[in-house]
Amino acid sequence: MAVKKQQTDTSASTCCYCGVGCGVLVHKDKSGQILVEGDKKHPVNSGMLCSKGLNLHYTVNDTSDRLLYPQMRYNKSMPMQRVSWDEALDRTVAVFKTFIDKYGPDSVAFYASGQCLTEEYYVINKLMKGFIGSNNIDTNSRLCMSSAVAAYKMALGEDSMPLCYNDIELADCFYVTGANPAWCHPVLWRRVEAHKAANPEIKIIVVDPRVTDTCSIADLHLQLNPGTDVTLNHAIGRVLIENGDIDLEFVTNYSEGFEQYSALVFEKSVAESAKICGVSEHNIRVAAKYIAEAKGFISMWTMGLNQSSIGVNKNLSLINLNLITGHIGKPGSGPMSLTGQPNAMGGREVGGLANLLPAHRDLGNPLHREEVQKFWGGKLINPKAGLTATEMFEALNDGRLKAIWILCTNPLTSLPNVRLAEEALRKAKFVVVQEISNKPETLDYADVILPAAGWAEKEGTMTNSERRISYLNKIIEAPGEALPDAEIICRFARKMGYKGFDFTGPSEIFDEHVKLTAKTNMDMSGLSYTILKEQGTVQWPYKKRGPAQGTQRLFIDKQFYTDSKKAIIQSVPDTLTSEFPDSNFPFILTTGRIRDQWHTMSKTGKVNKLNQHYQQSFLEIHPIDAAELKIVEGDIAVIRSRRGEVRVKAIISPQIKRGVVFLPMHWGKILGSDLNRVNNLTSDQVDPISKEPDFKYCAVNVIKYKKP
Ligand code: SF4
Repeated sequence: MAVKKQQTDTSASTCCYCGVGCGVLVHKDKSGQILVEGDKKHPVNSGMLCSKGLNLHYTVNDTSDRLLYPQMRYNKSMPMQRVSWDEALDRTVAVFKTFIDKYGPDSVAFYASGQCLTEEYYVINKLMKGFIGSNNIDTNSRLCMSSAVAAYKMALGEDSMPLCYNDIELADCFYVTGANPAWCHPVLWRRVEAHKAANPEIKIIVVDPRVTDTCSIADLHLQLNPGTDVTLNHAIGRVLIENGDIDLEFVTNYSEGFEQYSALVFEKSVAESAKICGVSEHNIRVAAKYIAEAKGFISMWTMGLNQSSIGVNKNLSLINLNLITGHIGKPGSGPMSLTGQPNAMGGREVGGLANLLPAHRDLGNPLHREEVQKFWGGKLINPKAGLTATEMFEALNDGRLKAIWILCTNPLTSLPNVRLAEEALRKAKFVVVQEISNKPETLDYADVILPAAGWAEKEGTMTNSERRISYLNKIIEAPGEALPDAEIICRFARKMGYKGFDFTGPSEIFDEHVKLTAKTNMDMSGLSYTILKEQGTVQWPYKKRGPAQGTQRLFIDKQFYTDSKKAIIQSVPDTLTSEFPDSNFPFILTTGRIRDQWHTMSKTGKVNKLNQHYQQSFLEIHPIDAAELKIVEGDIAVIRSRRGEVRVKAIISPQIKRGVVFLPMHWGKILGSDLNRVNNLTSDQVDPISKEPDFKYCAVNVIKYKKP
């Protein structure tokens, strides 16, 4: 509180954790220390913050772990040496040029983050796709929302969440699946809780193999077997059709594919589907009844659907429930994907994935490539999709990729089958790590370390899950010689000899990005920093002379972004392709977040209060399974998969299904050891379309640890 009393300055900003995008007020005292509180005027959170947002200032005020100056070494056996920015970037330029000349542009790659600001994403994407001549730019959003991105495109024609958070208060049925928003998108869930408290008649259906805090206000919990989401959604679709509870007008006039879908969902009886899913037929029918009776129906989901070897099919089967009931393009209705990271959406806007171009243009479309190339004035854009997150590390392992530049992410905790990623960085010829913290494991493998400015130390924009763009103020100076990420990339690009990177600041980068959106479906051509500073957050599309707050809802006119202008009801199979349990590895492992930690804990792990919720990683296991293994609460369990091992304390809980175990995703070497890193175990199988990994399903063995 001391900071607030002595405050000299207050700025508005946005929380840098999840994709809810809560508004914060940042009070700064004379010494540069900050205090964060919820912004009562913000349309997303009305002053509310969750535990992570409330403690944001501790992660900024404590600079003890910050990287302060560039460092470099000429071989991995040497210690890192402090160098100037010019020395670090000149060396990086020399190495990149050598590899590009000798092996071609696909020999280098950038691996970035959904925590980068939009302007940062924009310049990295422009540099790689427009000037280096490779599409090897991918981000950790690949591990997060890429299945939803692909599904939106296949069903609606573009990656566009159609509704807004204000629809929550207008809905009377929520189908929450593959998500625990009570812990992972808490402020948004507080809005659902408040709506339910005021209107007890509204229905909440939660679909999850675990009983989570989200279930505490559920009218119906479908505790399905992991991986059976498509079967369940199809069964609900079948009941809706059987009972005549579909929107015939919408299906006939505004969608395609219903007949094929109808035939598909009738291939299995509801009883058969119930058996596969491990839920009762009665409860499937109750879920369908709740949806059928709703005037406003919102489906809500995140990683439980996305992070799967059939993630796109899971997404499509869910979106179908909105389409067949006509619950899209009207207040209180629609598919609402919950973005994991604060600016994964902004990154997608500028085309910051290996298979995208800016403003939702298609890399595979020659006209789109030409349009962007002419705008940038660089090289012809390579039509071949770049390497995705896991593919980059495979390519380092087999030598196709020589150099990787990693920024704002910690793949050595977060990638699946992480030992392969470690091996990849060991083999890489050249590794650049651009980071704020001296903790991530990637630094051990770096040839060049570039210190970056963090949240509140730089200016830019982010877009939350509901297409809401926020301006983030620079509030304090970055410590030491740390620079904003966009500035680092532009300096590098200029040293490479590329034109078009002499921006005077993020505002000019934003203006260029906005120009590229003109005449596209996400048209932001009416937007500028001035507008964002004057009137606060707005939602895209934001056309010139359009509504002052932008566009709350898409598809109100029932005109979708597909060629036919109709939504596409996709008929997807329900066959799971994950690594199944067997006699050697009899349990299904599923992974996820805990309430008070964020990703690999490089920020939240610094805050004592947040470390109290769970002080260490753990295995959640059902009491009957634990008893059979002679494991009691607090015992150390050894969990093994075909890829590696983890040893953590057991928590025995009836809230998980028998045969399924849960481990949190956060721990790695930053807080603890690599023996608590869940991604030693996970499978690197990916969805064939989205290339998103299967973090929610792999086969493991569990035994009680015995001292040797
Ligand atoms: Fe930040 Fe998300 Fe919590 Fe809001 S809900 S305070 S955006 S972490």
